[in-house]
Amino acid sequence: MKRAVVIGGGIAGCSTAHALAKRGIQVTLFERHATLGNEASGNPCAMLYPRLSGNNDLSEFALAGYLYSLSLFKSLHFETTEFNNCGMLQLGFNAREMARIQKVAASYTDTNILRYTSQQEACQLAGMKIQYDALYFPNAGWIKPTSLYPQITQHKNISVKTLTSANKILKINDIFHIYDSENRCIEAEIVVIANANHAKDFQQSVHIATQAVRGQISLLDATPLSQNLNTIVCSDGYLSPVVDGQHSLGATYSIENTALTINAEDHLTNFHTLHLISEQLHQDLLQKESEHTTVGRVALRCTTPDYFPLLGQLLDVEALQSTPPRPNADTGTLPWQAGLYINAAHGSKGFTSAPLCAELLAALICNEPLPISETLAAQLNPNRFILREMGLKRLAKTIAISS
Ligand SMILES: Cc1cc2nc3c(=O)[nH]c(=O)nc-3n(C[C@H](O)[C@H](O)[C@H](O)COP(=O)(O)OP(=O)(O)OC[C@H]3O[C@@H](n4cnc5c(N)ncnc54)[C@H](O)[C@@H]3O)c2cc1C
Repeated sequence: MKRAVVIGGGIAGCSTAHALAKRGIQVTLFERHATLGNEASGNPCAMLYPRLSGNNDLSEFALAGYLYSLSLFKSLHFETTEFNNCGMLQLGFNAREMARIQKVAASYTDTNILRYTSQQEACQLAGMKIQYDALYFPNAGWIKPTSLYPQITQHKNISVKTLTSANKILKINDIFHIYDSENRCIEAEIVVIANANHAKDFQQSVHIATQAVRGQISLLDATPLSQNLNTIVCSDGYLSPVVDGQHSLGATYSIENTALTINAEDHLTNFHTLHLISEQLHQDLLQKESEHTTVGRVALRCTTPDYFPLLGQLLDVEALQSTPPRPNADTGTLPWQAGLYINAAHGSKGFTSAPLCAELLAALICNEPLPISETLAAQLNPNRFILREMGLKRLAKTIAISS
């Protein structure tokens, strides 16, 4: 039986462990904290919806990921208090967003995926006064990460090692030796780096193009009026229906400030989002809020310049740079780090992109048909930025997802 070590116990690592284990691979999952899903993947509830902009690769990927996550989570038979397809409204709250939702509505004809709704219908669907026409995703919803991780990692082929930080990866005679901070070593034929912004800590992946983006959500206590909210509603952020007595409202974006402390300014940014979602709810929830301390949660997203995640086998960048390939080289001749993969940089949509990426990675490793087109899969190639930097733009564009 093949062995794999997956580094990082967020949604990317847990879903990778799940996808590999169900194919008979023996997985050891390393997580440095005491529990899974402690960092970006640790919000009280995660929204599941795609942000589409028309017919382009990013939208195709977002939609494929969304549909895959929905089908995976449905197959796990959660209670509706853990995973809920409450639907989602994306509001045309300004001229640009109105143009976008109209364009998207015209591009997709399957009303099980999305449809345009008038302001009047949006009010009925939301159970609340909404000021704008909207794009309605009837199957969108939210999931509680604390319910998800035990479900997807409970498998006879998965051994979860919490409080275990992977410090070093060495390859000796085709076998990886993964050392933790206590210098204990685990051997495996496959390693998947899934530790988001810390993927750069390894010598083998130090070159990847990622950027930490701070985000904060505000958690607002429900009121009798806000209990009526039936759907997720989005303006430039999202508001969830009541989950365990609270609404999740978010999230902010900051590159400059990456401090992991909650700040009042970000709550104000979130309240502005709420104001655009529903003036009625804004007044109602904030009236209650003034009597309480506003609580929230802050974490760092891991992003790339082109918004696609990093998924696939890594190249040996030193070897690549010392002997640059011809622009039309056969990708099989490139210096691949055989068996070393990455599943990271899921930006602000990890719950709809990481499970599909995990499935794609497992299909690649096991030589199965890919769950998305090869062209789309190649967009995720983790080596694309270094190839572009070396002036190998054509190779970066056409490179197969792995050797
Ligand atoms: C405020 C906020 C709100 C968001 N809301 C949503 C939402 O509603 N819906 C949605 O889809 N997405 C949302 N996102 C984005 C989503 O949370 C991320 O895309 C996703 O969590 C990324 O998952 P990950 O597993 O790649 O990274 P992480 O969750 O950061 O996981 C990486 C893990 O690796 C571990 N680790 C690091 N180094 C090591 C090491 N050396 N050894 C062992 N373990 C290590 C870390 O402890 C961590 O647990 C939000 C993000 C933020 C910040």
